[in-house]
Amino acid sequence: MLKNKIAVVTGAAGGIGYAVAKLFAQSGAKVTIVDLQKEAVDKAVEALQAFGDVRGFACDVTDSESMQELFVGLKKTEGSLDILVNNAGITRDGLLMRMKEADWQAVMDVNLKGVFVCTQKASKIMMKQKAGVILNMASVIGLMGNAGQANYAASKGGVIAFSKSVAKEFGARGVRCNAIAPGFIQTQMTDVLPEDVVDSYKKAIPLGELGSVEDVAQLCLFLASDRAKYITGQTINVDGGLVMQ
Ligand code: NAD
Repeated sequence: MLKNKIAVVTGAAGGIGYAVAKLFAQSGAKVTIVDLQKEAVDKAVEALQAFGDVRGFACDVTDSESMQELFVGLKKTEGSLDILVNNAGITRDGLLMRMKEADWQAVMDVNLKGVFVCTQKASKIMMKQKAGVILNMASVIGLMGNAGQANYAASKGGVIAFSKSVAKEFGARGVRCNAIAPGFIQTQMTDVLPEDVVDSYKKAIPLGELGSVEDVAQLCLFLASDRAKYITGQTINVDGGLVMQ
């Protein structure tokens, strides 16, 4: 589905990003994964190469010069930059009354500024090509809010609004942009939750289970492919029915 497409997936040393990179590679894309630590990137690349053409780039998504270097380099060596998945994200949970400004800022920096930086740098190339796909990992928390996650909810709500604006600005230039809103997906992020909290989530999910990283990756594959060529500016949930819009 993505034969020879040049794709970049951020935050892909583990979790959802890793699953997206794996499925993209299996689908024929040439994938560059971006993550913070070089050792983690190298380890992930080594494992992912079993599934296709995967390289790594150790970098912080908020570092605009490094991200620019990556995108320009890919355009030069590969001839295009076709797909960007802005997946890197963090949580710094806490009740609003006690939330430290540093925790607010850290979440805004990675989850929102990181998406802005990568989208702006990649879209310069995509607009010139008159083709490209940008997928932004939001969250159902950005739609419904969550006690103890005001910073995370605000950042993900921001990602959704940002994606709509990008879709409007770039649509006429052949660049599509959509947001993905996973519900509760089993990853390191959710593994740290107490069992009773997970059980209460399961009760609220019509399909009765947490989702898997593959469930999210399958939606990314579809949205990144030409099968979704008439879909832009949307926020699509992968959440077992948790939030019905
Ligand atoms: P994860 O923590 O397993 O993976 C996130 C990756 O991003 C990590 O490898 C981390 O090192 C990397 N990262 C963090 N900050 C970075 C930075 N500044 N630059 C580059 N890389 C950075 O998390 P996950 O559960 O796989 O989540 C992936 C995305 O999906 C996030 O945006 C998250 O908010 C979103 N999401 C997750 C869930 C869930 O249930 N797991 C639900 C909804 C949305």
